[in-house]
Amino acid sequence: MTTPVAVLGSSGSIGTQTLEIVRADPERYRVTALGVGRSDLVVGQAEEFRPDVVAVADADAAAEIGPRLPPGTELLVGEHSMADAARTADTVINGVVGFAGLPVTLATLEAGKRLGLANKESLIAAGPVVQRAWQTPGAELVPVDSEHCAVHQCLRANEITGKVGADDRVETIVLTASGGPFRGRTRADLKSVTVKDALAHPTWSMGPKITIDSSTLMNKGLEVIEAHELFGVSFDDIDVVVHPQSVIHSMVTYTDGATIAQLSLPDMRLCIGYALAYPDRLDVPYGAIDWTEMSRLDFQPPDREAFPCLGLAYEAGRAGETAPAWLSAANEVAVEAFLTGLIDWVDIADVVDQSLQRWPGIAAENIDVVLWADQQARDAANAVIAERMS
Ligand code: MG
Repeated sequence: MTTPVAVLGSSGSIGTQTLEIVRADPERYRVTALGVGRSDLVVGQAEEFRPDVVAVADADAAAEIGPRLPPGTELLVGEHSMADAARTADTVINGVVGFAGLPVTLATLEAGKRLGLANKESLIAAGPVVQRAWQTPGAELVPVDSEHCAVHQCLRANEITGKVGADDRVETIVLTASGGPFRGRTRADLKSVTVKDALAHPTWSMGPKITIDSSTLMNKGLEVIEAHELFGVSFDDIDVVVHPQSVIHSMVTYTDGATIAQLSLPDMRLCIGYALAYPDRLDVPYGAIDWTEMSRLDFQPPDREAFPCLGLAYEAGRAGETAPAWLSAANEVAVEAFLTGLIDWVDIADVVDQSLQRWPGIAAENIDVVLWADQQARDAANAVIAERMS
């Protein structure tokens, strides 16, 4: 049987890798919807995969892309178009970057569909809102992020309730971090790093925003919050360990002292394929390890002084409500400011920290409040940046 798949954020790193998986197994998966912000890469993708619908969020880009789509492909335009496209498939891969991925997450879960979630901001920023949508009958959330995909697999090792999640036999979830390109550097060393340095990730090939987040360890901090939301584990029971080889993608330690880990080569296609195929698995061994080539696995604690974003994320996670939304939005602004040369790399954490101090302590009652907090945090971060530059 062929599974209809919507690939949203199809021009990005997750999107293009999802299409590779479909290309390798056209009997099993069919792309019924593609969605982009504004990239015309979607034209060639539509030519190849012949989806029923193509969503383009940006109206100007849609006007240019629309006439170039193959005949019979319906064009959806505007900020709600990707959420509308999500409802057309059984399985949705949400690879939209940033806060814009939230409507796709909610639309998929509320339609009772399978969500392969690569957009971490939506779960972090709107955790309580997403949790409610996840209660919809039929709704399934399978994380695509490598660490959470690993935790999901490790938790299945102790699946006694029929639902993959933390039960009281889980002692600790251990998220591994590659440490990014600046692992081992001190805070003083990090003052002069450039955008090019920060974009040179040692083990993973990803988009620019997440690569910068990986260099600051904000990515890991956001993943801590994400793990809390996905698996219902308290922040005290989520640890981070630096593991430079990125072969162990995360681990779960149980009350009897056993640790279950998931190992594979760093390849997001394994995670995307896991989300597509769960509870089954793909036939293609995307992350298979040659054990005769594997000589060592190293571990060290994260340097929380050189990488303060990790601690900031725990702080926002523990505060809960709209604090994670605030953190995530302020971080997006800070990363963008770094990428465009407005601030230095070390300033990213400072900007997030100062923005977080301006969080007004508002509860995440509904999506409007989350959107408001997101905008307020962006304004706060921009104000912090402007104050620093003046
Ligand atoms: Mg990750």
